[in-house]
Amino acid sequence: MNQIHDAVIVGAGFGGMGAAIELHRQGYDDLVILEREDDLGGTWHVNRYPGLAVDIPSSTYSYSFEPNPHWSRLFAPGAELKKYAGHVADKYGLRRHMRFGTVVEGARWDEDAAAWEVTLAGGEVVRGRFLLTATGFLSQPKLPDIPGVEDFAGTVVHTTRWDDDIELAGKRVGIIGTGATAVQLIPELAKVADHLTVYQRTPIYVSPKLDGPVPGVVRGAFAKVPLTQKATRLVGTSILEVMMVAGVLHFRDLPWANAAGKRVCAAHLARQVKDPVLRAKLTPDYDFGCKRPTFSNTYYPTFTKPHVDLETIAIDHVDAGGIVTSDGNRTDLDVLVLATGFNLWDVNFPAIQVVGREGRDLGKWWRDNRFCAYEGITVPKFPNFFSLNSPYSYSGLSYFTTIETQMAHMGRVLGAMRQRGADIVEVTEEANDQFLDRMTGLLDNSVFNAGSCSTARSYYFNQHGEAVLLRPTSTLSAAREATRFPLDHYTFTGARVSASAS
Ligand code: NAP
Repeated sequence: MNQIHDAVIVGAGFGGMGAAIELHRQGYDDLVILEREDDLGGTWHVNRYPGLAVDIPSSTYSYSFEPNPHWSRLFAPGAELKKYAGHVADKYGLRRHMRFGTVVEGARWDEDAAAWEVTLAGGEVVRGRFLLTATGFLSQPKLPDIPGVEDFAGTVVHTTRWDDDIELAGKRVGIIGTGATAVQLIPELAKVADHLTVYQRTPIYVSPKLDGPVPGVVRGAFAKVPLTQKATRLVGTSILEVMMVAGVLHFRDLPWANAAGKRVCAAHLARQVKDPVLRAKLTPDYDFGCKRPTFSNTYYPTFTKPHVDLETIAIDHVDAGGIVTSDGNRTDLDVLVLATGFNLWDVNFPAIQVVGREGRDLGKWWRDNRFCAYEGITVPKFPNFFSLNSPYSYSGLSYFTTIETQMAHMGRVLGAMRQRGADIVEVTEEANDQFLDRMTGLLDNSVFNAGSCSTARSYYFNQHGEAVLLRPTSTLSAAREATRFPLDHYTFTGARVSASAS
């Protein structure tokens, strides 16, 4: 009951596992990783819908220190990501720390014990000197606020709760949503459904996907000469970096780069869809990058098939038999797929209640003020706390860039604690305010502030109208700062610090 672990990590996805690996490197071995699902892998465990694949090149979408030479395709199928997560957990000795099916309700800093008290559903309390939340960005499924969904008499499924037993063959299937998930799922549904109706509210930018099987000889080279895979990773990362930095973050300075992104997608659409009316419906009216674009070679052609309809008239309601649009038209359905994404800003920042010093409630504080975490990872009044899925934390397009940048930041903080004999570390209000000012200034140059995003309905924007999910700097700059930020941006306290100071 009174045991205080070195650290409690919430979430056993790639972020939580990266954090655990870093804690091991820093000499902490008494870790508890709490996971609400029944296995590790985070998003790659939860999502198992047909067509699931990574849409960032796999050589890039993996830990740089644990390359996997066995990816079967340039963009690996979801099941391979899940397998890779299992491999990492085994190789780095992480499974022994994990507790599955464990729902965390909240965490509170206990000043007297200088530890975090983490409460689980059912009332159990787990304590740790450090608390790390790695609950993902896209982990709280969003159900649409459309009247009558609960009245539908057929099968309803959200994409995060996919069930392979759902009968699709010969059925009338409807899908709500055209985000990155739907872009992967729609072509698969069309292969088996008797009729498919896609309900689109906002079109998405889709660019060609340069995908294909990785030949055996290449995989052999990756295994024997890891440098070859490193070089491939560098190419993939650099392309994504140019897309992000030039096309999105430097919109005001380099509008042509953003326009080039738009043109690539428009040309892709024009090549694949000849009907101008259909093409117009699939063409976004906001700037490239306002919401996350995606890659697919099979999405657009699906809409040219005779048994697939694209419905762009707003949904009025759902009833027992199907969907009725605002023009009164009804479509009878047997299966309704909700590809309606995730709720980030109401329930995910943070995903659990976290209460720090002086009773500061992180979720309330962010909502009452502005969303910000210093360098996307620490927050004033929350000692010994690393919030891995924070405003301004996501850097670049591959999540692994973010994970490794945060691991570096943690390593520097924990190393400084060790050196100073500190038990408690906390970022200062001033450092946090300065960071927020700097990020706000940088956002001014980005497509989010300078472009036309009002019709995008992008989850990058929070309820204050600020696009604070992505860090508006290059990944190189984020990585550099993670190893060079001024240590006086933190206060280090504890028994040995006080003793040496007196
Ligand atoms: P999403 O991008 O948020 O898309 C949700 C879709 O549902 C949107 O088209 C949205 O329309 C629609 N929608 C939501 N509520 C609606 C309502 N009440 N009525 C009508 N339409 C409604 O979610 P997602 O597709 O699951 O993708 C989320 C993120 O997951 C992606 O951006 C990406 O970062 C990640 N992802 C990654 C991969 C990968 O391979 N790495 C694959 C899939 C997803 P509006 O746009 O009009 O709101």
